[in-house]
Amino acid sequence: MTEKGQSAAGEQVRILNFIDGEYVEPIGGKYLENIEPATGKPYSLVPDSDQRDVELAVSAAQKAFPGWSRTPAADRSRILLRIADLIERDLDKLARAESIDTGKPLSLARNLDIPRAASNFRFFATAILHTENEAHVTDGVAFNYTLRLPLGVVGLISPWNLPLYLLSWKIAPAIACGNTAVAKPSELTPMTAYLLGETCREAGLPNGVLNIIQGTGQNVGSAITAHPKVVAVSFTGGTVTGRKVAETCAPLFKKVSLELGGKNPNIVFADADLDAAITGSLRSSFANQGQVCLCGSRIFVERPAYETFVQRFTDETGRLKVGDPLEKSTEQGAIVSKVQVEKVKFYVDLAQHEGGKVAVGGSPPAAPNERCKDGFFFCPTVITDLPVSCRTNREEIFGPVVSITPFDREEEVIHYANDCDYGLASSVWTQNLNRAHRVAEQIHTGTVWVNCWLVRDLRVPFGGMKQSGVGREGGNEALHFFTEPKNVCIAK
Ligand code: NAD
Repeated sequence: MTEKGQSAAGEQVRILNFIDGEYVEPIGGKYLENIEPATGKPYSLVPDSDQRDVELAVSAAQKAFPGWSRTPAADRSRILLRIADLIERDLDKLARAESIDTGKPLSLARNLDIPRAASNFRFFATAILHTENEAHVTDGVAFNYTLRLPLGVVGLISPWNLPLYLLSWKIAPAIACGNTAVAKPSELTPMTAYLLGETCREAGLPNGVLNIIQGTGQNVGSAITAHPKVVAVSFTGGTVTGRKVAETCAPLFKKVSLELGGKNPNIVFADADLDAAITGSLRSSFANQGQVCLCGSRIFVERPAYETFVQRFTDETGRLKVGDPLEKSTEQGAIVSKVQVEKVKFYVDLAQHEGGKVAVGGSPPAAPNERCKDGFFFCPTVITDLPVSCRTNREEIFGPVVSITPFDREEEVIHYANDCDYGLASSVWTQNLNRAHRVAEQIHTGTVWVNCWLVRDLRVPFGGMKQSGVGREGGNEALHFFTEPKNVCIAK
C-alpha cells in the first residue's frame, strides 16, 4: 500500500478483517467505501462484515483464551511492550494513515494519537506486573484471599474521533489481563485498526487473542454486544448508541463499560491568568476540530473578564489555520464526514434561531487547495448571546463550535455547568486555590481540570457521570473491569 491507501496499480486498498492471526475477507464479500474527509473521495474499501464474521472471531477468541489466560503476566507484558515499540517504529506510517482516514492534522496524529496508542500498550504491559492481591483475615476463623481472573472473550467498540488511541485504550488492558478480544473500530475510520493486526502479528501475539472485525455498528457492533459468548463489552461512542448497547447487554448480565458523549463546561473566572485561559480554551474548544469528547464546548466567563476574553478568543480563533490535514502548517483539518459537517451547520443555524450571534466562523472556509476542494471543512466558530439553557447549549455538537456566556457569581456558574444531561469533563480557570477546590467538588463531571485541559495520567479514573457514561477506564479501574474478583476463604 502507498501512503495514500492506493495499491501500486492505483486500485483502492481493501481493508480486511483480522481473525485468528490472519487477514480475511468478510464472509459476505461486501465492502463499504472509505472516504477521505479532506478530499470527500473514497480511497479504500472497508469490509461490510456481519454476524457470521463476528461468529468466526468469537470462536477464534474462545480457542485462544485458555492458552493466553494461563500465559504468565511477564510474557504477556513482553508482547505488549513489543507492540508499543512497533507502533513507535511505525509512527510516520500510522500517523499518516490516521490523518488521511479522519481528516485530523498530521501533526496531531503524530504528536497525540499514535504516541498515545503506544503509551496505552506500554502502560498496561507494565501495570500487570505491579498488581497486588487483597487478603482479609477473619479473626480466629478464616483467611481470605482474592484472585482477579480474566473474564474470557470481551467485546471492544470504539468511535471515529481518536481511532487507534481509543481502540488501543481498550485492547491493551483487555489482553494484558489475559482476556481475548473481538474489537470493532468505527466504519468511518478503519485504517489504523487494520494496520494494528500486522503489528500484533510481528510482536508475536498468539493467534486469536485479538480479532478485529470491520463494519457497521448495526451489523457488527450489535452482533458483538448480543453474542452470548462475549462476556463483557467496553464501548466508547455516542449516548444514543450507548443506550442500545446497555439494553442489549443488561438481560444477558454482561459487564459493561460505557464512555459516552459530553457537553463540557469551561469556566473562566476573572482572576484567571487570562493568557493561559485563552490558550488553553483554544485547545479545549478546537483540538481535532472540536471532535474530542472532552472538548469544552460551553465557555462561561466571569463578567469583569467577559469582553476582553471574547475579543481575544475570537481574534485567536479567526487566526487558526484551516487547511489540508497533510500540510505542516495546518491547525484545523477536515471534519470526519459529510453527515458530521451537516450536523455542525444545523447547530450553527439553530444557534442563530435561538438568539445567538456568530462572533467568528459559522461557515465552511474557501477550499484550502485543489486536492481538498470537495473536502468536509468548517471554520472554527464562536457563538455569543445564547440563552444558557437553549438546545445549542445542551446538545452535543461534536464539531468546531463553542458558545461563550457571561456569569456573575460562583453558585450561578456551578448551576449552569451542572444544568446539563452530560457529565464527562470540565475545566476551571482561576488563581484562587480555595475556589478551585470548592468549584471542582461541586461540578458533576468525571474529570475536572484546573488551569489545564487534557492533561492525562493513565493511572487516574477516566469516565463520565449522568448520560456521559457508566464505569471508569484507566489504571486500576480498567484492570478491575477486565477481571473478575474471586474470593477464596480458607478456614483456620
Ligand atoms: P457512535 O455511537 O455512532 O459509534 C461508536 C461505535 O459504535 C462505532 O464503532 C459504531 O459503529 C458502533 N455502533 C453503532 N451502533 C451500534 C450498535 N447498535 N451496537 C453496537 N455498536 C454500535 O459514535 P461516533 O459517532 O463514532 O463517535 C462520536 C461519539 O463518541 C460522541 O458522542 C463522543 O462524545 C463520543 N466519545 C466519547 C468518548 C468518551 O471517552 N466518553 C470518547 C470519544 C468519543
